[in-house]
Amino acid sequence: MIYYSTNGQAPVATLEKAVVKGLAEDKGLYMPQQIKPLPTDFYENIEKMTFHEIAFQVASSFFGEDIDKDALRNIVNDTLSFDCPVHQINERIYSLELFHGPTLAFKDVGARFMARLLQYFIGKKDNGKLVNVLVATSGDTGSAVANGFLGVEGIHVYVLYPKGKVSKIQECQFTTLGKNITALEVEGTFDDCQALVKNAFMDTELNAHMQLTSANSINVARFLPQAFYYFNAYARMKALGKADNLVICVPSGNFGNITAALFGHAMGLPIKRFIAANNANNVFYEYLQTGKYNPRASIQTIANAMDVGAPSNFARIIDLYKNDYNTIKTLISGATYNDSQIKDAMNQCYQANKYVLDPHGACGYQALCDGLNEGEYGVFCETAHPAKFKDTVESAIGTEIEIPERLAAFMKGSKQSVMMDNTFENFKAFLMQEAQQ
Ligand SMILES: *Cc1c(COP(=O)(O)O)cnc(C)c1O
Repeated sequence: MIYYSTNGQAPVATLEKAVVKGLAEDKGLYMPQQIKPLPTDFYENIEKMTFHEIAFQVASSFFGEDIDKDALRNIVNDTLSFDCPVHQINERIYSLELFHGPTLAFKDVGARFMARLLQYFIGKKDNGKLVNVLVATSGDTGSAVANGFLGVEGIHVYVLYPKGKVSKIQECQFTTLGKNITALEVEGTFDDCQALVKNAFMDTELNAHMQLTSANSINVARFLPQAFYYFNAYARMKALGKADNLVICVPSGNFGNITAALFGHAMGLPIKRFIAANNANNVFYEYLQTGKYNPRASIQTIANAMDVGAPSNFARIIDLYKNDYNTIKTLISGATYNDSQIKDAMNQCYQANKYVLDPHGACGYQALCDGLNEGEYGVFCETAHPAKFKDTVESAIGTEIEIPERLAAFMKGSKQSVMMDNTFENFKAFLMQEAQQ
């Protein structure tokens, strides 16, 4: 498969280059030149297929030209070591539980898939050059990437996170691992971290000294596998006889997850429409209302993995629909909730359904409560386990919640991090020093 840049100025790339480079030379995001529809009989029989079988078919459509079949099957099976079930909340609303992975958040799938794909490409070479993954995180990306890449030979991971702006539990999940994982604690916001990473990729001198790649959802290997979820959700809803007027609602920050869902739609997945649920960082919501895109600094909310003021994958959505505002507005609607509305949603859902939401999933749930029409069924992504946001959730629902064993295990490790200000100069100096070792 050939990949082109959304900015249209960089040369096209192979899958290997797109994965290893992350961002194109013109700062654009890579897009596959073709999105291949899956055959009709796939959709006719999808409800009889397992999650693994479905994911392998979808993965083959994306990556089948570039990776041999057995290797791809291994990568898919290794990535999906857990299930992503739909769970009924009320008559018309279902939760798609994406939090049963190693770090209890949906990014586990993309992170693991990318680690294994990168390893596949490195393994085919014999120069043995270390690949350095730079990842900016507002909380969950860092833990998913760090754990997905932990112990993978030939790769070192640098996680940049905003000091004091991620939860204790999130922080433990990427600062206690050691081995090939280094955590950088940045004085600044998530957007500052993202800017440092983007600048590093553009710096000629730095790139001459070390091989750098990203693991943010700008990387095609991170975001495309997330399409698996939506095919699986459709299959499970179809088995229940509830897939004819299906609305998919995705709590969105950087818009990687929903973009993967839209790729599924472009491959023929019969989803009626989509809702992008935002917290108070609502530039996409505004775009849908006004047609104007006005990226800006992020603000801090209790759904902090969605505190993004300039969503990277907006460029992919625009490109996918050839900048046709009407098409976008017809297929996708928006919703935005402030912290107090998010808490109310968590509380209401718990009181009414005895289902505990995390603050991100709460935006998705509320958007379906507010936006489902007659005759429609809705599935929202529950993107993280509520225990990852224990204090917030407990204060909203007035009940203690349990911490799963897997999460508690991270809390026992000791924190190791490197302090950093938000200037590129110092970040670059640090990386140059690392390259000497
Ligand atoms: C990353 C994340 C989101 C937002 O996903 P995007 O792909 O960035 O839109 C939502 N919820 C949780 C828990 C996350 O970690």
